[in-house]
Amino acid sequence: MEQRKIIIVGGGAAGFFAAINAAQLAKASHQSVDIRILESSDSVLRKVKISGGGRCNVTHNQFDVRRFCENYPRGSKELISAMQRFQARDTVAWFLERGVHLVAEEDGRMFPDTNDSETVIQCFLDATESLNVKVLVNHRVTSITRESGLFLVQLDGQEPMVAHSVMIATGSSKSGYRLAKEFGHTITELAPSLFSFKISDSLLSELAGLSFSNSKVKLVIPGEKSFKESGPILITHWGLSGPAVLKISAWAAREMMHSNYQATLYVNWLGEKSLESVIELLKNLKQQNLKAQMANAYPKQLAKRFWLKILGKSKVREEQKWADLSKAEAHRISESLFSTEFAVLDKNRYKDEFVECGGVSLNEINFKTMESKLCPGLFFGGEILDIDGLTGGFNFQNSWTGGWIAAQHM
Ligand SMILES: Cc1cc2nc3c(=O)[nH]c(=O)nc-3n(C[C@H](O)[C@H](O)[C@H](O)COP(=O)(O)OP(=O)(O)OC[C@H]3O[C@@H](n4cnc5c(N)ncnc54)[C@H](O)[C@@H]3O)c2cc1C
Repeated sequence: MEQRKIIIVGGGAAGFFAAINAAQLAKASHQSVDIRILESSDSVLRKVKISGGGRCNVTHNQFDVRRFCENYPRGSKELISAMQRFQARDTVAWFLERGVHLVAEEDGRMFPDTNDSETVIQCFLDATESLNVKVLVNHRVTSITRESGLFLVQLDGQEPMVAHSVMIATGSSKSGYRLAKEFGHTITELAPSLFSFKISDSLLSELAGLSFSNSKVKLVIPGEKSFKESGPILITHWGLSGPAVLKISAWAAREMMHSNYQATLYVNWLGEKSLESVIELLKNLKQQNLKAQMANAYPKQLAKRFWLKILGKSKVREEQKWADLSKAEAHRISESLFSTEFAVLDKNRYKDEFVECGGVSLNEINFKTMESKLCPGLFFGGEILDIDGLTGGFNFQNSWTGGWIAAQHM
């Protein structure tokens, strides 16, 4: 019998996961299958290596599929059905079977217990080697055509290759989108996602590194929708970052691109429900600290440096006694804490977990198999699809789920 040939274009998270699982299945059913990963650059799994600050946030500790899928600004509906078959719980078991223990942090992010992305990379490289998957670097795919049920894969400076099934797992590379388009696939509007905001405001100056664990943010984009998020936020040298900002950037990815990254951001630093509850909080502080100077008694969640800035912004003297705080002054402080307005000037990618929003249109993919509805035998997985998740391990889970399903059908 002719040996089945599978080619996976792209040596990233989705490509490796698909190749390893396909090889495992072939081995279990005693089939001889030639599986090749073709990678254009000179090394594989580069994003896995740098992911999660070098620790690789593999997935998220949320095993309720519906709730897990709430974390995808695009692709949520399609992933619900896909993750009924392979979800975060399966990812944890899959890695454990191969000796990699994933542990959850308080916020739900899961990392290998070594806190080193090399652990994940080594696991994949060991698996490809033991299962005889050929990993070919410096193999850039330039075109793919299909004739009489077989794919002809053209390479830059190498002999073409033939395959029965092909998976395109090229992440956000332009050449991958082109390969998909050549099969008639639609590429939806592309836009960066998961970025922090460039803001120039004296309230933030000299406070880089300060974080607020429980804030709420609202983003208003001229002529577009407005967005709300909550979670930790971080003051940076450039403006604002942290999970709440990254999340809101993902929900607003396309709208922000349309507005050339100009918007207004409102920050509720304490995460209080209403202005009245901040006023109440200050009333209590006043009662307990009548004799103290304004500079020396402040909400325990805030750093003194920040509180002094809030006093300055609210035009309240630092040395004034709490006893002398007028209603109007208390109101100004409350407003500053409840809703500081910032002009967002641009996006900033420095050190962010950057992913691409947009990609192969999801209604052209059969999510039961990850096969193209336009071309039998052609599969897709990972970031090339019009799927992107929030920060927290959701983007990799999309790659694991798509890779695993494609492996069952290639
Ligand atoms: C700095 C950073 C940190 C991140 N951290 C996390 C994290 O901790 N957790 C998380 O869930 N997500 C994280 N992400 C997102 C995550 O890395 C991606 O979602 C994921 O890597 C997508 O996997 P993929 O296999 O689809 O694409 P990729 O990992 O991008 O792999 C695609 C591969 O295809 C190759 N390729 C492209 N074109 C061709 C061609 N024509 N021929 C052959 N090969 C080609 C590329 O060279 C590349 O190696 C992070 C992203 C970045 C940039």
